[in-house]
Amino acid sequence: MPELPEVETVRIQLFLRLKGKTIDSVKIHHDKSVRGDRRFATALKGLRIDDIDRVGKLLIFSFEGKNDLFLLVHLKMTGQLFLIDKSGSRQAAGGHETKHDSTLPNRHTRVEFDLKDGTKLCFNDQRIFGYLKLTDKKGLAAAKDRFGPEPHQGALDFDYFFSRLQKSGRNLKAMLLDQTFVAGLGNIYVDESLFRAGLAPTRAARSLTAAEAKRLLREAAKVLKEAIRHGGTTFQSFKDSTGKKGNYTGKLKVFARQGLPCPRCGHIILKSKVAGRGTHYCPQCQK
Ligand SMILES: [Zn+2]
Repeated sequence: MPELPEVETVRIQLFLRLKGKTIDSVKIHHDKSVRGDRRFATALKGLRIDDIDRVGKLLIFSFEGKNDLFLLVHLKMTGQLFLIDKSGSRQAAGGHETKHDSTLPNRHTRVEFDLKDGTKLCFNDQRIFGYLKLTDKKGLAAAKDRFGPEPHQGALDFDYFFSRLQKSGRNLKAMLLDQTFVAGLGNIYVDESLFRAGLAPTRAARSLTAAEAKRLLREAAKVLKEAIRHGGTTFQSFKDSTGKKGNYTGKLKVFARQGLPCPRCGHIILKSKVAGRGTHYCPQCQK
């Protein structure tokens, strides 16, 4: 499943290539992939893409001269976005990783955008949990309200972070996965942040000292920034037009490294279920 750094990578790649381009037509191949207004295709026809923003893992497209219409895209489990040029070669892609590259559009293509300049944006989604949705200003504000501040974006105030931890009856893993508290840390980056901060995932959130909470916030911000710089962990392995591959996998210190030695102390890294999720940690370094 793509996490925030992967979605941010997709956002940047698409923004660089789609800004200023006009939607010529939209084909919906699977009704379930489009939520809300059934006039989806008609509403988007002829619009020029102005910006692609993001909150949590939700992508937000806005359009020139339209301040009350937004396109929301959520990739969920298996969603992918592919941009292909006139010759059919890929310019950018991102989202869920696939082993088999096939031509596009293909049987997993749920929505297809034809742009005036001949490029095509395909929304692929094998399991159809992802969606596209048109919304207005009010709907956008409601969508944004469901996300807390992101650790790497300066808007996250330490006093807010610490006081919420102190009031919590949950453990650190559960607390950090809660997107209404802090947005952007999924299973991979919660484990990585806790390892780097030296904190056990099962630790009661309210037991943290101010110094520990500071360290945790700092490490979470660093992990997200690093992962974004590397194009994420689960980003498609084929190269984009700039020749860059998403590869944060080699930087992971505990995630999916159970049974291997801890890079800090050499103790074997363990995996167990915490807050319902497979959790990786070093029992010696994380207190
Ligand atoms: Zn260790």
